Amino acid sequence: MAQSNSVRIAVLPGDGIGTEVTEATLAVLEPLAKRHGIGITTEVLPAGAFHYQATGEGFPESSFKAAEAADAILLGAMGWPGIRQVDGTEIAPQLDLRFRLNLYAGVRPVRAIPGVPVALAHPRARDIDLVLIRESTEGLFHSRGKGLVTEDHAEETLRITRKTTEKLSRFAFLLARRRAQTRRRKGRVTLVDKANVFRAFAFMRGVFDEVAKDFPEVDNAHHYVDAMALDLIRKPWDFDVLPTENMFGDILSDLGAGLVGGMGFSPSADIGDDHAVFQPAHGTAPDIAGQGIANPTATLLSAAMMLDWLAARGAGQGFADAASELENAVDAAFGAGLRTADIGGRDGTAAVAKAVAARIGG
Ligand code: ATP
Ligand code: MG
Repeated sequence: MAQSNSVRIAVLPGDGIGTEVTEATLAVLEPLAKRHGIGITTEVLPAGAFHYQATGEGFPESSFKAAEAADAILLGAMGWPGIRQVDGTEIAPQLDLRFRLNLYAGVRPVRAIPGVPVALAHPRARDIDLVLIRESTEGLFHSRGKGLVTEDHAEETLRITRKTTEKLSRFAFLLARRRAQTRRRKGRVTLVDKANVFRAFAFMRGVFDEVAKDFPEVDNAHHYVDAMALDLIRKPWDFDVLPTENMFGDILSDLGAGLVGGMGFSPSADIGDDHAVFQPAHGTAPDIAGQGIANPTATLLSAAMMLDWLAARGAGQGFADAASELENAVDAAFGAGLRTADIGGRDGTAAVAKAVAARIGG
């Protein structure tokens, strides 16, 4: 951590709308920092598919090193149709960061924003405010790219370790405790698994239950993943913090995004012990890139998560205040009628930045 009240952010805008939504977000961070008397220095770093096309490198080591040395990393989106590495794989520096910096907790908030259409007609759908935590380094992705395939059968490995499950569980309980303080609600952590069928998940439960004992003030529960898919449609407002295995989290977080307005409203963070990457859940959206209509809300909310994470790591109360003001400004702007193209409106990327910035300090 840098000196208190001042941080260095590595910015990796990437490709397509990634560059557009990060530009809009930086434009909002500037007045926000000024208002809260916090120092935010940004360093924009090259990486992504177009950088690969131009230079033969998708993620220069100098960009990785600078990102690693920064206090936090803000990322747009990377990848482009038709631009692939020599071995045929996609350019995905965000995955390099996840594995090289051991970012085990994929944090995906699912929250109904005032004025933004929700998928459910139920009157309580506006109360949806939960956080999925996708374990991001093992689980069913453990053998990713290395699965066994023969003429007659194929095999992939599900790997759950004590160490990662302990860290994931602890992260979930700390987050629930923090949310209980800031959102005035009782914290509750629900592990999502399939412990009735797989011994690996019964093991995961056992480790989770051990960690739960250290947090008596936070409720804890378990839910089978199939039942959770049902309940995320039936009563998502009942849930708070939901840690889960890698593949389950991958699927449920898209379901969660669909509940509350889609990808343009879904922030995310990939967090490890010492590093964290904050980025929108969406991709580079080649179909709308360059038109100035991308919705930057997911990135703005990711930046709010970044400020809150920095505050929790000791950057100072000003960062926590800035985080909640940014979130409130987004809510107020949409609550007052801001409408982006992805929800049928006409407000473009710059208009969102302007409307949100206008609510800061107001
Ligand atoms: P990836 O493989 O990187 O996940 P993808 O092809 O699955 O990317 P996105 O790039 O996220 O998906 O785009 C999916 C759809 O959602 C596209 O039609 C895109 O235009 C739309 N979309 C994604 N993000 C936004 C946004 N911020 N604002 C408006 N529309 C968006
Ligand atoms: Mg996708």
